Amino acid sequence: MAKRDYYEVLGLSKGAGEDEIKKAYRKLAMKYHPDRNPDNKDAEEKFKEASEAYEVLSDSDKRSAYDRMGHSAFEGMGGFGGGGGFNAQDIFSQFGDIFGDMFGGRGGGGQRQRRGADLRYVLELTLEEAVKGVKKTISFTAPAACEACNGKGSKNPEDVTTCQTCHGSGQVRMQQGFFSVQQTCHTCQGRGKIVKNPCNVCHGAGVAERKRTLEVSIPAGVDNGDRVRLTGEGEAGGAGVQPGDLYVEVVVREHAVFQRDGADLYMDVPISFTDAALGKEVEIPTLDGRVSLKIPEGTQTGKLFRLRGKGVKPVRTSMVGDLLCRVVVETPVNLTSRQKELLQELQATLDGDDQQSPKKKSFFERLFD
Ligand SMILES: [Zn+2]
Ligand SMILES: [Zn+2]
Repeated sequence: MAKRDYYEVLGLSKGAGEDEIKKAYRKLAMKYHPDRNPDNKDAEEKFKEASEAYEVLSDSDKRSAYDRMGHSAFEGMGGFGGGGGFNAQDIFSQFGDIFGDMFGGRGGGGQRQRRGADLRYVLELTLEEAVKGVKKTISFTAPAACEACNGKGSKNPEDVTTCQTCHGSGQVRMQQGFFSVQQTCHTCQGRGKIVKNPCNVCHGAGVAERKRTLEVSIPAGVDNGDRVRLTGEGEAGGAGVQPGDLYVEVVVREHAVFQRDGADLYMDVPISFTDAALGKEVEIPTLDGRVSLKIPEGTQTGKLFRLRGKGVKPVRTSMVGDLLCRVVVETPVNLTSRQKELLQELQATLDGDDQQSPKKKSFFERLFD
């Protein structure tokens, strides 16, 4: 079968920019990656084809040669084609930057550093805590460095040596047809170390499940989904291996009064209908005290008042948001007969004067237009 045009493989036109090429390749590589399509020959072919196209088109020298001469530019160079010279791991190490965040470094090839797993801890905060910042003590159970041997796997550090089979990587490569596949080293069970006199608590693993308590500093202004990373506080990786990181993810509890939207806070301010009609200065709560809010006479329900700088300062900006107060005019209930009389008297004076009920007036105007 004839080789497809590299631009066609990536679904691009000839003038495609560097970013477009990278994007198109990323998309295809994600879709056809062998890790996601085990034992799928078709995906394997497509992955190889896309990787090859990317290798050429992402390199300005190779790309201009290809633009001039097409596939013949690389014939006889032994670079691609035969299958033997191309190796998925090499592609990964070459393009580590785009794969790095895609597969969590799994595709990083030989130079990947082995480390313990990252942990995620969901921390619930009140709105006040999220806005002002807080120190929290958290507890969780996770694999941690064994206390008996300090995570070394043996009481005597000289008894721990680097595995000669995998040279400490814990992984060995096997050629499996077209791909080279990484497998856990059998000599050291993937630890990368050989322990002669193993610790009798962790049996040489250097890791033991343990309850841990940590203090976490949450910076002021965090919001739902924000994460604080504690380097090295994740799962212990075992003897001679770096621990993972701990990610503390913030979830903010609903507040009885305030709703947050980025830097701004919203609240409902209930006022009586007489206050709305006559105007009044009311005290309202803020996150750090009280302020007074002047309700002018004739205020309608739903009216928003903005109190500048009384909102939140989000963690990654220096700008403080506003507090938006939405007036909710409350209709009085459980009236006495005297109060009803007064209201009827009032109503009698209002009847027929549309100027005093602007909304009602425009409503009927719209209705009969
Ligand atoms: Zn080994
Ligand atoms: Zn131990």
